[in-house]
Amino acid sequence: QPVLAVVGRPNVGKSTLVNRILGRREAVVQDTPGVTRDRVAYDAQWSGRRFTVVDTGGWEPSATGLQAAVAAQAELAMNTADAVLVVVDASVGATATDEAVAKVLRRSKRPVLLAANKVDDERLLADVASLWSLGLGEPHAVSALHGRSSGDLLDAIIKVLPEAPREREAVAGPRRVALVGKPNVGKSSLLNKLTGEQRSVVDSVAGTTVDPVDSLVELDGQVWRFVDTAGLRKRVHTASGTEYYASLRTKAAIDSSEVVIVLLDASEPLSEQDLRVLTSVVESGRACVLALNKWDLVDEDRRHQLEKELDRGLVRVTWAERVNISALTGRSVRKLAPALRTALASWDQRVPTGQLNSWLSELIAATPPPVRGGKQPKVLFATQAGIRPPTLVLFTTGFLEAGYRRFIERKFRERFGFAGSPVRINVRVRE
Ligand code: GDP
Repeated sequence: QPVLAVVGRPNVGKSTLVNRILGRREAVVQDTPGVTRDRVAYDAQWSGRRFTVVDTGGWEPSATGLQAAVAAQAELAMNTADAVLVVVDASVGATATDEAVAKVLRRSKRPVLLAANKVDDERLLADVASLWSLGLGEPHAVSALHGRSSGDLLDAIIKVLPEAPREREAVAGPRRVALVGKPNVGKSSLLNKLTGEQRSVVDSVAGTTVDPVDSLVELDGQVWRFVDTAGLRKRVHTASGTEYYASLRTKAAIDSSEVVIVLLDASEPLSEQDLRVLTSVVESGRACVLALNKWDLVDEDRRHQLEKELDRGLVRVTWAERVNISALTGRSVRKLAPALRTALASWDQRVPTGQLNSWLSELIAATPPPVRGGKQPKVLFATQAGIRPPTLVLFTTGFLEAGYRRFIERKFRERFGFAGSPVRINVRVRE
């Protein structure tokens, strides 16, 4: 999601203008001198385009004087955002501070737009023209208070912002499930159990004539598309089941799925092959349910042993939902559906930018990132750039150690959930 930073001196009406841009979606708190606001970034949408608006007001305390502080703001904005909107007060005209900001922004490699605010009255339009002198191109006359021309300004903003990368579209129809696991873990037994018990099962996809690859399965009142099950349905395993071939199949199935059921054999130690399957799932970014199969063979001793193995083996998927099942007896097989639903809901979940930032600024105030090379990296703001999988982008002034990123992920999950889904955290360091 592209980022628009808004800069300007205090009292030019920045917050009011940002509220106009947001269109009442998330109200911006008014600037209070000396008080750092807890929210800096918000979600905006115009003409079907989504972007993040960053109100730079709260970034830097003005210890070095107003002019330097606002210039520093502009510097930061220019290095962090995809486009910058400078707001000046047309009823006052260009001040020395505005000039200082303009001087910084004229060096910007990213697009810069100039908004001449407080044009509440036609008579002020003549003053607007004088703002060409800032060297930032055409001044866009607006009245944030009355909403005058804010639509035109938004059109101009949309024009300069880069297109957001397209998100994986929700595929129409049943949600897509991959059933994976090493040979003999019980995949075909489970599929047979799931399809065998239901009256309303559709065996092959309607309209396909040769070798239908998917199975539609009704679980818990919902139809699911189990992808790439052709091989699993065959009673006799083919001789082509070499490990290489199996791993290609697994990858293909994962790729065409939204959520993956990884079958593990609870009666045996975790193997290299299991870990390879798990790695594929983690890399794919799909939601995940771990099904510990052959639970009928697990006694008390084995259970204790298994706990230890899983603690060690599943560190990369601690977030995955777990279900203990037996494909043979049908034990707890019904619990797969709620686990799949939870995982997919998390995979689809989006935290609004305002909410994300008020949580994040509290977290970081309480536990700042560790100092590296004598410098304290600052986290400026964050947005959830995407879903499927949920992806956060943190905008920072320095590198964040892996340990600290994991800390943020852990706290993020504590606060917002996301059970069953991976969460990706990207860090964008201002250059
Ligand atoms: P696949 O290669 O993953 O498709 O595994 P299969 O479904 O062919 O199962 C391999 C073997 O494990 C078969 O002999 C199954 O009967 C057996 N099996 C599958 N699920 C269970 C289970 O839950 N408990 C027990 N005891 N055996 C199982």
